[in-house]
Amino acid sequence: MRHVIVAANWKMNTTPRDAGELARVIGSRTREPGVIRVICPPYVCLAAVRDAIAGPDVAASDGMGVAVGAQNVHHEAAGAYTGEIAASMLAGLATWVIVGHSERRRDAGEADELIGRKLRAARGAGLRSILCVGEQLADREAGRAEAVVGAQLLGCLDGADLADFGTEGGLPWLAVAYEPVWAIGTGRTARGADAAAMADAIRRTLVALGMRGGEDLPVLYGGSVTSGSIDEFLAEPSIDGALVGGASLKPDEMAGIVARAGLTAAARGAFAKPSS
Ligand code: PEP
Repeated sequence: MRHVIVAANWKMNTTPRDAGELARVIGSRTREPGVIRVICPPYVCLAAVRDAIAGPDVAASDGMGVAVGAQNVHHEAAGAYTGEIAASMLAGLATWVIVGHSERRRDAGEADELIGRKLRAARGAGLRSILCVGEQLADREAGRAEAVVGAQLLGCLDGADLADFGTEGGLPWLAVAYEPVWAIGTGRTARGADAAAMADAIRRTLVALGMRGGEDLPVLYGGSVTSGSIDEFLAEPSIDGALVGGASLKPDEMAGIVARAGLTAAARGAFAKPSS
């Protein structure tokens, strides 16, 4: 049975003054048995979010509580990298990290090989990763979306010991977010059936790469997800949740999205759905 995950990518929004309260409101309005919730604020807001939702023992927030995630991490352990944050520095602040987001591929020139190094650095420091992959519109229109995403996976996981990225202690070390680049922040979404086919292709690729348990790897959809569009994706048994950007700053939207994810978790028998 695959985990159901809803992750909030707040991008470059919120401040240390308001992030904790927003996280607290979202956390209290999204309690759904069986849904792993991850809030990824800017680095400078990690402590405020942790204090608001996770308490001092951030690891305890995994599982049924709300987990805290970072939006990026550096691939080296330490050194002369002005402005960067190493994975070990996130200890006590975050248990998850987003790597390979298309905005970092676009704005910071991150390529698959570097993203792979970040993945390995994160795993080495005990952080669970959400690895983002996705094609450009021209790739989809040319019928090469699966080939592009497959190549991204190969490039990011080359050199990784895939045995390290399975599930341990009831939680996965890796989730993949399929985020078609043309759907991020545009209000345009993929079709649920296309996203589901991609999720299946992602798992097939990971199994072919030799990942034990690759068929159980959670694959999330991301790209302009709202409470109104989430159903199209979670109605697909192959999709295990969402990486939410713009809508994740709105408690009403998050409440709707996580409520729908709760139905998926209950249908999978992750937890009994309360009768009320
Ligand atoms: C994202 O940031 O990963 C994302 C999918 O953004 P949005 O939901 O705003 O498209």
